Amino acid sequence: MTEMTSDVTTATAIWQELRSGRPWPVEGPVAAVFRCADAGISSETVFGQSAGSLVDISTWGHTVDTSVLASIEYAVDALGVALVVVLGHDDCPAMRAALQAWKNAQLPDGAMRSAVENALLSVVRRGAAADCVASVTSAHIIDTATSLVQRLPALARKVDRHEVGIVCATVSPGTHDITVHATLGAVRTDDSVLERI
Ligand SMILES: [Zn+2]
Repeated sequence: MTEMTSDVTTATAIWQELRSGRPWPVEGPVAAVFRCADAGISSETVFGQSAGSLVDISTWGHTVDTSVLASIEYAVDALGVALVVVLGHDDCPAMRAALQAWKNAQLPDGAMRSAVENALLSVVRRGAAADCVASVTSAHIIDTATSLVQRLPALARKVDRHEVGIVCATVSPGTHDITVHATLGAVRTDDSVLERI
């Protein structure tokens, strides 16, 4: 029980430092950030951290694949990071493509199709309103976090034991403003979180 409290504090303390933009004073990666590749801004820049202090993972529309799963498993299991951030962003082109596909009932061709399909599945699974990019983005980052836990037993165990916390957030690339949409596991935020999953 004591250990659990300590771990909660650790994940929360890391989040507070990232949120404030103060570099974490311990050498080595302290958190894994899974973000959208078209955000045009690195995770270190968003959170004011030095190069190498975050495990920075990005795919278009933060689509989960086996490489992403391996990277996050490595971060939490081998490196022992206590915080995973699923980071979307304002006016995301990938989420805009998903919204267009929803409205037109037509998926894009090529490899981009799977990213759009994934975002649409998130909307369906979350029962979200597909009426604007922000709504699709919020549904997709929360569903992405759920998917990571479902597909990674090592992460699920650590979340259950309160050793790891997950924050689902979006950033406004121009201002670096961060909005928390949901949390999972051993992390508390100061935001009025929409939901805890
Ligand atoms: Zn994006």
